[in-house]
Amino acid sequence: MLTNRPPIIVILGHVDHGKTSLLDYLRKSNITAREAGGITQAISSFQLQTPEYGVLTFIDTPGHAAFSAMRKRGSQIADLAILVVAADDGVMPQTRESLDFIKSSGIPFIVAINKIDLSSADPDRIKTQLTENQVVVEDFGGDIPSVLISAKSGKGIPDLLELINLVTSLNQPQADPFGQLELIVLESRLDSKKGSLAIVLVKNGTITIGQELFQNQSIGKVRAMINPDGTNVTSALPSQPLEVIGLSLVPEVGSIISDKVVLQPTTKKPIPESKNSIPGINIIVRSDVAGSLEAILSALPKNIHVLSSGTGDIIENDILQARPAEAQVIGFNTKITTSVSKLAETEKVIIKTFKIIYDLLDYLDKQINQAPTETILGRASILADFKIKSDRIAGCRCSQGVISKSNSIQIERNAQIIGKSRIKSLKVGKNDVPTVKSGVEFGAIFSPYVDFTIGDDIIATTG
Ligand code: GDP
Repeated sequence: MLTNRPPIIVILGHVDHGKTSLLDYLRKSNITAREAGGITQAISSFQLQTPEYGVLTFIDTPGHAAFSAMRKRGSQIADLAILVVAADDGVMPQTRESLDFIKSSGIPFIVAINKIDLSSADPDRIKTQLTENQVVVEDFGGDIPSVLISAKSGKGIPDLLELINLVTSLNQPQADPFGQLELIVLESRLDSKKGSLAIVLVKNGTITIGQELFQNQSIGKVRAMINPDGTNVTSALPSQPLEVIGLSLVPEVGSIISDKVVLQPTTKKPIPESKNSIPGINIIVRSDVAGSLEAILSALPKNIHVLSSGTGDIIENDILQARPAEAQVIGFNTKITTSVSKLAETEKVIIKTFKIIYDLLDYLDKQINQAPTETILGRASILADFKIKSDRIAGCRCSQGVISKSNSIQIERNAQIIGKSRIKSLKVGKNDVPTVKSGVEFGAIFSPYVDFTIGDDIIATTG
């Protein structure tokens, strides 16, 4: 069941405008930290316990690699950004970069005009500059909240917290503590004493000691977990940042860790029923329990290609896997978190969830009947993979029909379509050619990029 979770807030802005000072001020004001006698921070994210608004999660290091990684994937970590602008300086290059980041993330933000204790502070000049950068604050007639603060004296910080609460409660962040575990890797490294470790933020579910963690495969068991204040914990809930020890590898920053295999390829399923067409749609199936999953998989209409399936809620990785194959994500008795549905929106991936198997099958039936059929014109196998300058070239042999530069192509692996693209360059030896026929060896560059591998097949189709 979805329940409210603490909002996750990121602080952005130009260097020296006071981001670290603001975080330090907040940390020091932390009632739990004060009670424990001012403990040093173990990790670069912390939770602030406020008497008025409950817990708020702040993420440190704005230039965090995890942000770029997540942004590339069209996803996001934070629910809200605070743009810090120094009142004695103004809109600077990194202020604009931060604004670009905020805009591309689509998250709400608050402008915090800092250093108002300085005599050279000129907040109105800052607001005018912001207007020139298409950021019109509320008291200038726009809709962006702003607040005057001093990270040095603490002036205005209660107003900032009040604004944070106001903005985040408009779109209350939620997660399911009993749902599938989803951790975002904020940082990871190999530690000489602790081994592979990851600093993660819990996005969904609950992480507990002894739990097995997965990406494409098992990546270890949770041996220990450390809170931002340096204490060991036995479990952590959504929006909690923590260090996880016990991993068998160093996970990629921005990647997602789950308590189930994130991608679970199903057994091979032959695609084309008819030799001349590839009708059909690709799907990824998620179901609450293994029993229903089995029932669904065994009753699927013809020409439905299952790229992967598994139990548990739909997670971000399902969307990322679906996109290149133009697959739909089908859920049965599963939930969708806001971040997953936002990612699906960005990646233009269709998600459908059902509570009745019959409805699910009926939907797929209708989809199949609507799906246009494409005629196969030729086939080739990829025998080599090499690079010339920045281009990745597939060395292929045409095994069937004719392949033309103007054809659409699909990359097939283990009888499943893993991507669609077009041919940017088609060469036999050094010569550009318009077509190749059966038996001919050729080199091809695909655009848009598809991650092919030796052994994959290329299917050339009309369209
Ligand atoms: P960051 O690079 O954005 O993290 O900026 P810092 O927090 O390191 O601050 C840069 C400098 O500005 C430091 O010397 C801080 O002491 C100073 N500073 C930060 N906030 C304030 C403020 O509210 N008032 C004044 N007077 N100085 C500040």
